[in-house]
Amino acid sequence: MKKTKPNILLIYTGGTIGMVKDSKTGTLRAFDFTNLLKQIPELQLLDCNIETVSFEKPIDSSNMNPGYWVQIAELIEVNYKRFDGFVVLHGSDTMSYTASALSFMLENLAKPVVFTGSQLPIGDLRTDAKENLITSIQMASLQHLNQPVVKEVCLYFEYKLYRANRTTKINAEHFKAFASLNYPDLAESGVHLKINHDYLLKPNLKKSLIVHKELDTNIALIKIFPGISEAVIKSIFNTPQLKGVILETYGAGNCSTEKWFINLLEQTIKKGIHIINITQCSGGSVMMGHYETSENLVKIGVISGKDITTEAAISKLMYMLGQNISSKVFKTIYETSLRGEML
Ligand code: ASP
Repeated sequence: MKKTKPNILLIYTGGTIGMVKDSKTGTLRAFDFTNLLKQIPELQLLDCNIETVSFEKPIDSSNMNPGYWVQIAELIEVNYKRFDGFVVLHGSDTMSYTASALSFMLENLAKPVVFTGSQLPIGDLRTDAKENLITSIQMASLQHLNQPVVKEVCLYFEYKLYRANRTTKINAEHFKAFASLNYPDLAESGVHLKINHDYLLKPNLKKSLIVHKELDTNIALIKIFPGISEAVIKSIFNTPQLKGVILETYGAGNCSTEKWFINLLEQTIKKGIHIINITQCSGGSVMMGHYETSENLVKIGVISGKDITTEAAISKLMYMLGQNISSKVFKTIYETSLRGEML
């Protein structure tokens, strides 16, 4: 079989990675991606064809929202046939949210979508941007018998390729800014690229890509703490149009057994609002019913988020609410791994 060079689409959404420092004023400004190959000549050494597309107005990822997630999904959708892999350059602050959302929005994805960014701008002398960018493109270009090796949404940062919906930003300063505490790395970059084939998602290749663009943002995230007041929780649960709540509980999914608290949860679930229990810990899983302090949650119909990250829990909830899934099966589907995001 004749080996052809893979075609990679680089999508620039914004963030530090695409910035250069003005040598006179010292301010950061967006880098001109149409001249990418000229400005980073190393990219020409890669064994792939690269095309670039940029958001009209690149944004700091703190301004990301589901509307932009749809824009990224549409760029992938319209270019899906023509390209073998996609690299999305994104600010690191909310990268795990966007990348997790994209994993749900792109059903039956059979090509790599690699998110990356950097802690220092690409023009900075000590930048981590070049390595992150170059290796992300290499990861997206990996082929076996003219087929992409990686067939899922991933995040590459500081020598590691992760399943995107398993990641969290853990550090605002270190080059190692992300971690995937509940799932092994998909690949590691050292002298060689070491791919952990056993951990890669294996989608059904007979199915074609479906891009879901309906996301329902009528949700809330509550991180409980000792002393949280009834008034605060009540006011959140009484939010008009509210359809789902992610409850960040302690340890293996434990929370107060106080009557007012459990009653509030119960009444809310009876109103048809979905409540999902996830842990505040960075690693490990919710095990409802393991302790007495979570037994009540099982009885009243709280959904277990198992070992899902907060970022994936939020985007999965928005995605599932956008699908108008009936309340009868909502709990079962939420507790099922749809894109490798949970146990
Ligand atoms: N604030 C920036 C952003 O998330 C930080 C970064 O790019 O790493 O867009």
